[in-house]
Amino acid sequence: MPDLTAVRTRFAPSPTGTLHLGSLRTALFAWLWARHGQGTFVLRIEDTDSRRYVPASVASIMDGLRWLGLEWDEGPDVGGPYAPYTQSQRGDLYRAHADRLLAAGRAYRCFCSPDRLQALRAAQKQAKAPLRYDGACRALSRDEAQRRQARGEPHTVRLAMPQEGTLTFPDLIRGDIAVAAAALQDPILLKSDGMAVYHLAAVVDDHLMAISHVLRGQEWIATAPYHYQLYAAFGWTPPVMAHLPVILNPHGKGKMSKRRQAPADRAQPVHVHAFRAAGILPDAMFNFLALLGWTPDASQELFSRQELIDRFDIARISPAAAAMPYDKLNWMNGLYLRALSGEAFKAAAAPFLAQAFGGAAADIQARSDLDYVWPEIQTRVKTLAECPSWLTWAFQTAEQMVYAPPDLLIGRQLDAAQSAAVLAAAADLTASAEPFEPERLHALFAAAAQARGLRAGSFFGPVRGALAGTKVSPPLFAMMAALGRAESLQRLRRAQAELAARAA
Ligand code: GLU
Repeated sequence: MPDLTAVRTRFAPSPTGTLHLGSLRTALFAWLWARHGQGTFVLRIEDTDSRRYVPASVASIMDGLRWLGLEWDEGPDVGGPYAPYTQSQRGDLYRAHADRLLAAGRAYRCFCSPDRLQALRAAQKQAKAPLRYDGACRALSRDEAQRRQARGEPHTVRLAMPQEGTLTFPDLIRGDIAVAAAALQDPILLKSDGMAVYHLAAVVDDHLMAISHVLRGQEWIATAPYHYQLYAAFGWTPPVMAHLPVILNPHGKGKMSKRRQAPADRAQPVHVHAFRAAGILPDAMFNFLALLGWTPDASQELFSRQELIDRFDIARISPAAAAMPYDKLNWMNGLYLRALSGEAFKAAAAPFLAQAFGGAAADIQARSDLDYVWPEIQTRVKTLAECPSWLTWAFQTAEQMVYAPPDLLIGRQLDAAQSAAVLAAAADLTASAEPFEPERLHALFAAAAQARGLRAGSFFGPVRGALAGTKVSPPLFAMMAALGRAESLQRLRRAQAELAARAA
């Protein structure tokens, strides 16, 4: 008899594609509960449906869990006392358990051919009746079923469900859930090829692996009556079940999915790898996901991992489905980015710069010139993926600058000639400023603007355009210091030439 006082949770994904954010949240809640109870977190791969198997997905699942920091204590790669942890390697166990149910009369062999089942479905559809197995083979005598099986007739094994009354089962989040027996059918446990179906495999494994709490998505509620019935048929105590609320698309309609995204949301990530590619930090995602459907304290948003472990409580998970708050995730990620040390921020941004700028950004740590601007960027971005757009100028040479927007080099309330004069004055200041440091440069340029009766913005605008090639950039004088005197001068001269060429 498994020890149900020890907390043992599992994450049991089917390897049918890349890891979805909703699945990662399920894994996180199961992990938090295991860690909260100083218990064990198990990773089990549910690959009984070979038609839907996608080979790369086990790696994607493990990769996503590791990224978030959800290490598993038992699993396909690390083993454990209940190995193997991959269902396709446990077929004999499931068959032996199906035999037990057959012997006890809790399951029966069904010889209905696929053709008969299809015809039955078509007739039910036409009659607008619920689509369900009609129980034809349940009526066969045991002798007859045995004879047909001995003759080698193909058959499945079905669970004999109660035929009347109401089935009530507990859910830790939702309370008791009641379903009329008439709304259910006798589900298949073993297919005609002897392979177990999810219901049987999941229940046998949860029991044999001594799982104390099953946390899984709301979409599995419909399977729970079958699972409870299986526990009863085996004479086992079921684990505590908790069905987590589904995550909806931002507009609140439909499960969060790529297929169902509204046009306005198409660019939003849905799979874990896409959030990583968008520059979300694992710590921010951990904090964010933990609060997606659960709140320890409505007045607080930021929690350390340990606080979340200490306070996590399944019973306080909300049953209500909620829309995915992308804005909140980005906001929270911004806070986590700002909380990083300068060095850690740089290291986290490095792969994004390497991706955007290739080899030129390969050794970003060695670019000490950028130390002027890193802190400025760190206070401005919400995701790491935004970093390259703040640094384009740092990976261009003066010759590569393109002053495309027509008003880029034109100061506010100035014409082209006045702007050219600003650039000339800026070049003089740049040539002589000592020391060539942001504060000194700022003071000199502000004084020059004032001397000409210009607002700082009018004077700084053409200079920013000349140095950055864009209207938005890190603070001007940090950028100028990073570029250095010679490079800044070259850009100012190129920009002057550009204006002159346009005037000609
Ligand atoms: N294998 C199921 C899935 O892919 C998990 C269902 C469960 O946790 O029982 O999500």
